[in-house]
Amino acid sequence: MPIRILPPEVADRIAAGEVVERPASVVKELVENALDAGATYVRVEITEGGRRLIRVSDNGCGIPAAELPLAVRRHATSKITTAEDLAAIYTLGFRGEALAAIASVARLTLTSRYREEHAGARVVVEGGHIVRQETVGHPIGTTVVVEHLFFNTPARRKFLKAPRTEAGHVQRVVTRYALAFPEVRFALVSDGRIAFQSPGTGRLADAVTAVYGADVARELVPLADEEVQPETEDVLSSVPRIWGYTSKPSYTRPNAQSILFFLNKRWITDRALVQAVVQAYHTLLPTGRYPLSVVHIALDPRQVDVNVHPAKAEVRFREPRVVFTAVQRAVRAAVTASSGTPLGPVETTPVSGWTLPASWAERQRSAGSLAPSFPSLSEDTPTQGELIAQKDTSSRATLLPLLRVVGQVGGAYIVAEGPDGLYLIDQHAAHERVLYEKLMAERERAGQLPSQHLLDPIPITVDSDQGSLLAAHREMLHRLGFVIEVFGESTYLVRAVPAVLSGQHPAQVLEDVLEGLRDARDLVGEQLERAIVARICKRAAVKAGQVLSDEEMRSLVRELEACQVPHTCPHGRPTIWHISAADLAKRFGRT
Ligand code: ADP
Ligand code: MG
Repeated sequence: MPIRILPPEVADRIAAGEVVERPASVVKELVENALDAGATYVRVEITEGGRRLIRVSDNGCGIPAAELPLAVRRHATSKITTAEDLAAIYTLGFRGEALAAIASVARLTLTSRYREEHAGARVVVEGGHIVRQETVGHPIGTTVVVEHLFFNTPARRKFLKAPRTEAGHVQRVVTRYALAFPEVRFALVSDGRIAFQSPGTGRLADAVTAVYGADVARELVPLADEEVQPETEDVLSSVPRIWGYTSKPSYTRPNAQSILFFLNKRWITDRALVQAVVQAYHTLLPTGRYPLSVVHIALDPRQVDVNVHPAKAEVRFREPRVVFTAVQRAVRAAVTASSGTPLGPVETTPVSGWTLPASWAERQRSAGSLAPSFPSLSEDTPTQGELIAQKDTSSRATLLPLLRVVGQVGGAYIVAEGPDGLYLIDQHAAHERVLYEKLMAERERAGQLPSQHLLDPIPITVDSDQGSLLAAHREMLHRLGFVIEVFGESTYLVRAVPAVLSGQHPAQVLEDVLEGLRDARDLVGEQLERAIVARICKRAAVKAGQVLSDEEMRSLVRELEACQVPHTCPHGRPTIWHISAADLAKRFGRT
């Protein structure tokens, strides 16, 4: 085929893919537009997870009737005018492509009334073309309806997940904005039912409670960045200021997805900052567990490049190190202070004198709520050392008693007797735990895991995704006992594998580890390494269905008894189930 410039409809449809991936990305763009318009109420409605219909209404400033057709054109925006404006972005949107992109892959109805006009207006766009334009009644503000998403891009439509899953993605988007804009009231209605509501009080604590529930909110403590003196500042400072909430060390989650960052109220993803939070807990988090954190960062927009990615979720800090340290310090201070101060009594009263730059503040009527709250730390809070000491005693108390192996059930569970009744042990989970602690100790001691060299190096072919994972994590894989060499374009030679895996097929082992690396994309550094070690242990551990000799069972139970965290496997599943003597007596009606 000769090279041709694509007709604009086709080019738009391709570009739309970058912005519009699924219903949740449509909702994200429309909610951002509502917020940029200064709305204090944003209502999102979806049917069938947004496949059939998405409606976002707001009470923002509206769009002048004469500008409606422009709003749906590509690169039409009211938010920036020159390339220099890109250097300091104060609004959520700025590319001027969202409405055009959505309109090119769905039927879009944009109805709006500008606050200085007496009537509303509407345009209907289908497949990128305006098919109707009329004057209608509408309150001040804007309503966007998106129907039949991806009707003309079957490949994308096929890629959509079940309505429930898509609705879940939409809810995640809406709740994130509720956390970013506590002063805005949000409502999400899914198939006619209210799925989420936030009160819009301007207090982050209330938004957090709306999103996570009161029980979880009680487990959170306010972040404290004691070095910041907000009273002296009158614009977004070039020093990052941090506020928000983070969970007490006693409350954890199985993944890092509940560690959220908002930069100047924009939700961002940043692996290094996740690491800053996790490290702030030092050793207080159980292996493979993560805190829940809502971290607001306010920073002069000139210190950040947000124009990195079409969805604008990734940003580049001019001084990443400074932001990292500020976040870590704030979280650390909160964790250290976490003996008292529950979420409830903390008032997120805006700090007076702290305002936003005019260009944004104009549009954000209740901008004051962007200001952080700086709770005073009570004087008798324990030190980090004391917290660690507390944790140590509690985990010592949870060590296993000495057990006597009685037998095996279903080729999967070991039955044992202890000083207080019956113990059932999941042999696979228990072995995973034993291996994990051994390997981590070895890793600590020798700096790396022992390797088993293969007599015949095995060539393996990888796809480009796997290839880049291998390249990116070469050093870590080496520390874990892999010796892998580049052999050809997409071929690698496996020369050695971790010694614990020596009985296994090297290609499968590596594939498994690559899958682990892909699953653990949110993790970095030590956390990532632990996740991969856990993965290796999973593969190396005895499987359910494997019959064990008495001797094997005894030695496994001995090793489990010696573990520091014997009750769960490295992935957090229980290893052991205890039925106390009292329980047994009760079951048999002996009491
Ligand atoms: P961007 O947000 O990047 O400017 P969009 O395509 O999302 O681009 O929107 C185009 C323009 O339409 C915006 O710049 C704004 O002027 C106007 N607009 C879109 N949605 C709204 C809304 N809900 N309220 C007021 N104006 C809106
Ligand atoms: Mg926009």
